[in-house]
Amino acid sequence: MTGENRLQTQNGGAFTHYMETVHQRTETLYQSAKDVPWEQPQLILDSLEELRLALEELHVAEEELHLQNEQLISTQEALEAEQRRYKDLFEFAPDAYLITDIYGAIQEANTAAVSLLYLKQPLLIGKPLVIFLPEEQRASFRTVLNHLPTIHRVQEWELTLCKRNGATFEAALTVETIRNNIGSVTGLRWLMRDITLRKQGEMQLREARVQNLRLIEADRLKNQFLATISHELRTPLSAMLGFAHLLLRRLSNHPDAEVAHMLERIYCNGKHLLSLIEEMLDFSRLKAKGLELHPETFDLVDLVMITVEELRPLAVQKSLALDLKTHPLTLTVKNDRLRLRQIIVNLVSNAIKFTDKGSIVLELWELPEGRVALLVRDTGIGIAPEEQDQIFQEFWQVNQTNNRQHGGTGLGLAIVRALVQTMEGTISVSSRLGEGTTFRVELPRQICSSAQK
Ligand code: ADP
Repeated sequence: MTGENRLQTQNGGAFTHYMETVHQRTETLYQSAKDVPWEQPQLILDSLEELRLALEELHVAEEELHLQNEQLISTQEALEAEQRRYKDLFEFAPDAYLITDIYGAIQEANTAAVSLLYLKQPLLIGKPLVIFLPEEQRASFRTVLNHLPTIHRVQEWELTLCKRNGATFEAALTVETIRNNIGSVTGLRWLMRDITLRKQGEMQLREARVQNLRLIEADRLKNQFLATISHELRTPLSAMLGFAHLLLRRLSNHPDAEVAHMLERIYCNGKHLLSLIEEMLDFSRLKAKGLELHPETFDLVDLVMITVEELRPLAVQKSLALDLKTHPLTLTVKNDRLRLRQIIVNLVSNAIKFTDKGSIVLELWELPEGRVALLVRDTGIGIAPEEQDQIFQEFWQVNQTNNRQHGGTGLGLAIVRALVQTMEGTISVSSRLGEGTTFRVELPRQICSSAQK
């Protein structure tokens, strides 16, 4: 029994009791008045008193009834407000809600359900939900429907639904049983969400993953090809360079000076070609499995001095000053000598390449906590701020036209950065357009075994 019914029954009971009391008193009064001779005024007075009391009680009963009636009205109003609130919640919920009977015939549908299924509410009521499914999904839908009384609830059941205007959408359904107080299933409560966008997103993500895998594979094949071809090119080229070198030595005193000059050109261009191939090979190794370091103990000042002297002819050709400032006179380090040389050669030859007048300065000094700093500063064309992050990316060249004039593969700085990072160091650049560029490399004096990848 609900609260309101109980209240009504209680109120009704009290009133009945009052009425009975009044009735009894009136009855008593009537009996007294009938049997009593008129000449006994006291009895009449008593009877009138009884009547007054009965009227008084009737009055109290009326007031009580009035009060109870007011309580009943306010309870009913509260109940109606609550019902309206639930109705509003149901009506204006962003998701579609439906109530069906146990066979799936729609009994109630909120606004979201109406717009999702594209059928006006009066037309929707009574329709079996199954008609909104494509033919091929109906059998499995009915099977689940039949099992619902035992499984109670199905969550995130993904189906394709057809609106009444023919359009389809992907839906996620959650359905649970409604039971009466003896536990029998009396209906089904449905929550229906349009997940078309989510499904499309998932599909795009899947496609992007497949595409990504394809790209990774293509990249691997490209690197493998690069490694093979660089290796294949390097072998005969090394032999050609060896023979060119031998010939150069034999023919250095040839009476025709032009012969020696031509041989020298062959040798120099061959060496340049070799260095480009080496760069490509390094790059493909770097992509495939990282660069291997072979640490040894040596004097870094020594290495820097030798490397600068090797590069001096390039600076001289362009009438550039090439200075070296090393703050300690010796600086013992444990690192990969060849790879460190490669870093210095790359930075200094870039500095020479991109400078037309002025100087290139190479500085070396010791830092606290067992680190060293190497600085390559030039007075060249400089790099615009927005390009400064990009230059470390493989194949990136600031200005393609310039670089066709300057040559290069765009791999040098990518390799330098990979090497520095493998050595657990850092590289940074600061530059002003038209004024010059400074590259700063910081490295540990001793590379630890974890850096020897
Ligand atoms: P590249 O083989 O083209 O020299 P790098 O990776 O060594 O390739 O350099 C990438 C680009 O960075 C160069 O093409 C150039 O545009 C710019 N760059 C590198 N060093 C300097 C520098 N010292 N001054 C100005 N620009 C530079």
